Amino acid sequence: MADIEMEKTHILQKYLDLDQRGKVIAEYVWIDGTGNLRSKGRTLNKKVTSIDQLPEWNFDGSSTNQAPGNDSDVYLKPAAFYPDPFRRGDNIVVLAECFNNDGTPNKFNHRHEAAKLFQAHESEEIWFGLEQEYTLFDQYDQVYGWPKGGFPAPQGPYYCGVGAGRVHARDLIEAHYRACLYAGLEISGINAEVMPSQWEFQVGPCTGIKMGDELWMARYLLHRVAEEFGVKISFHPKPLKGDWNGAGCHTNVSTKNMRAPGGMKYIDEAIDKLAKRHSEHIKLYGTDNEMRLTGRHETASMTSFSSGVANRGASIRIPRSVAKEGYGYFEDRRPASNIDPYLVTGIMCETICGAIENADMSKEFDRESQ
Ligand code: ADP
Ligand code: MN
Ligand code: MN
Ligand code: MN
Repeated sequence: MADIEMEKTHILQKYLDLDQRGKVIAEYVWIDGTGNLRSKGRTLNKKVTSIDQLPEWNFDGSSTNQAPGNDSDVYLKPAAFYPDPFRRGDNIVVLAECFNNDGTPNKFNHRHEAAKLFQAHESEEIWFGLEQEYTLFDQYDQVYGWPKGGFPAPQGPYYCGVGAGRVHARDLIEAHYRACLYAGLEISGINAEVMPSQWEFQVGPCTGIKMGDELWMARYLLHRVAEEFGVKISFHPKPLKGDWNGAGCHTNVSTKNMRAPGGMKYIDEAIDKLAKRHSEHIKLYGTDNEMRLTGRHETASMTSFSSGVANRGASIRIPRSVAKEGYGYFEDRRPASNIDPYLVTGIMCETICGAIENADMSKEFDRESQ
């Protein structure tokens, strides 16, 4: 670290060590009008122990593409909170849902509808595990650690790579992993990906709506940690054209029935239902996903549905161990890295467990462009 940076860190520490006099800082986090994250902090008078102790709040939606200037207030309704790994102590990060002035969910608030589906099908105990892939870029928008003006050697040594030149930014990735654990998120693992400077973390299994909450918060922590390292995080599904792997968000799914002996019957039934709604699902599986789902680089084609045991070129993969035991879960490999997990888990629940009257995940997506 440069001397000046060291000096600044030293000065900052003096203030971070100051007593907060019993006050707590809550950093409210929300999804803006472009699918990115925003946050702002506020002081609370005491430690928070349940979600209903958190006040509703608001912000200027005209500055985040979420409301017109003449009716700009958007409301923040706390949905979940976690220990803040940056401020520590009793300070928290709060995931909030956005509502318009008239009480309707804001156009990028897909949590509200998805939650209705999970509530209606609570007895099915639907679990998800998401594999979030992403790519690191430097401050000049070059892939992080790649040779200036050139390319690294072709893919091969990088997936779960070890050693200089095979892996980049392990410090940042480790910091994010620890931050997620500190926050109490169900982060279940990390690995370096096939393309150099592409990584993956997995969150889950989480039940129902909790999946979307935890993935969004894990993404927030990633952006924050990377900010400190001067690194940009891209969730684009095909950040680099050519013979480089794209980035996905494989969605692992199970219901109570699938997880019990004989569960394969229910997995097969679910796959039949998914086959019939391929296009409805694809619509919600991320923008620019057609650049990734080419049938190459461990993906299936976007225009056709397929499934298979241990097949990484299929839309749906049944893990070998699940096929052998006859119960467990399946993996939907179609979702892109830039999905809204509420849309994907929501439509998964709708397709597998059944539609309900007052929620429609396909219409949800259409609201974004209104
Ligand atoms: P892959 O072999 O596809 O790379 P990973 O190990 O990266 O698989 O991810 C597997 C994911 O599946 C993890 O997030 C894990 O939590 C999740 N998972 C495991 N069991 C279940 C289950 N029964 N239901 C839903 N998700 C599950
Ligand atoms: Mn994985
Ligand atoms: Mn992967
Ligand atoms: Mn996978």
